[in-house]
Amino acid sequence: MKALSVLGSTGSIGTQTLELAEEFPDRFKVVALTAGNNLDLLVQQICRHAPEAVAVSDPERVAALRERLDALDPAKRPARLPELLGGNEGLCAAAAWSSADLVVTGIVGCAGLLPTLAAIKAGKDLALANKETLIAAGPVVLPELEKSGSRLLPADSEHSAIFQCLQGTPYAETARLSTGVPTPGLRRIQLTASGGAFRDWAPEDLIKATVADATSHPNWSMGRKITVDSASLMNKGLEVIEAHYLFGLDYDQIEIVIHPQSIIHSMVELADSSVLAQLGWPDMKLPILYCLSWPERLETPWRRLDLTEVGSLTFRKPDPARYPCMALAYAAGRAGGTMPAVMNAANEQAVALFLDEQIHFLDIPKLIDGVCDRHRVDLMGAPSLDDVLAVDAWARQAVREAAALVAA
Ligand code: NAD
Ligand code: MG
Repeated sequence: MKALSVLGSTGSIGTQTLELAEEFPDRFKVVALTAGNNLDLLVQQICRHAPEAVAVSDPERVAALRERLDALDPAKRPARLPELLGGNEGLCAAAAWSSADLVVTGIVGCAGLLPTLAAIKAGKDLALANKETLIAAGPVVLPELEKSGSRLLPADSEHSAIFQCLQGTPYAETARLSTGVPTPGLRRIQLTASGGAFRDWAPEDLIKATVADATSHPNWSMGRKITVDSASLMNKGLEVIEAHYLFGLDYDQIEIVIHPQSIIHSMVELADSSVLAQLGWPDMKLPILYCLSWPERLETPWRRLDLTEVGSLTFRKPDPARYPCMALAYAAGRAGGTMPAVMNAANEQAVALFLDEQIHFLDIPKLIDGVCDRHRVDLMGAPSLDDVLAVDAWARQAVREAAALVAA
């Protein structure tokens, strides 16, 4: 029985993780949950999973959560109510919860950084969905992993595919790299990308793109921020940096391929030129389950892949003019140090402004580019956690100021 702490339990990754816990009740139990604002769903999750601890990001909402739990029919609520926690401290305590074996990081954005570090420092293994944390703070996270011995199991479908293809290599045994060491025998990674909501739009039509257009993904059902990132291809750019930190390859060895069917979840090329791929329907449950069950594979009754139903798998190179975020992410990754943190924070802020209809979709890369450009002179090569948090806050503020100028 593996005990799970689920961070971001009310989101897309979080709810799918809890569905897996229900599907395999003799394998997984939930001991801690954290959430942002959706108290209704959180209360339902507490009733179903009876965790030992629950944290909400806003400390002022702990009292409201307690009232709701107290108001429940005693027959319908767990016999023992969870310990209720709040704020960053509460999120970190839930992430490091003593009885948890594996922490699923389903918080969106750099807000996941401190809880993720708390889990690593407590020696927990991680199912890493919250890619922004590794991208912003790779130079801080990797040494902590090495120190604590925590294993980083990739939940992102592409990185899970790579991890699955690497079974039999030393990497798969440790699920952890020594900082900066490339995975032995791995020569190239090809990350597949669906192309997102605008893949079939004429570039001149992008000026008409609305929030509704950008938040409807052709293949995957995910949270709003990552769906916008998929439309801009920033999600794939972030995944390039994620792959660099997870598998230790240089940026020249990590490529992006547009694959509209989302059946091949990524490919690796090994030293002898053999290419391995992992295939499946586009469904996050499989990569999440593999994190939970690794190194075992569990029998599932899920719909089996039928390639004759899919018919054809196609591939093309991504057009850099259509997807300017791709080049921004490679450049930030290559600059290293604090630059990925700045780019990630600028993207988070720009996407939030876009979702709030304050800027246009096409402003997102322009704002990120401007802020990264300004940071070049202040770049720190080997940042501390405080440095990462400081540049993150600076980049968000810089985007807000630049966006206000655009709007004025
Ligand atoms: P989501 O928006 O559906 O859910 C986010 C969760 O985080 C919610 O529970 C929310 O309450 C919580 N949260 C939001 N802001 C918070 C804050 N400031 N402090 C604490 N908690 C906060 O997002 P998602 O789509 O589930 O994505 C979560 C992470 O997983 C992201 O980093 C994303 O890139 C990654 N990911 C998601 C998918 C997917 O299919 N959804 C696939 C691959 C990777
Ligand atoms: Mg992905």
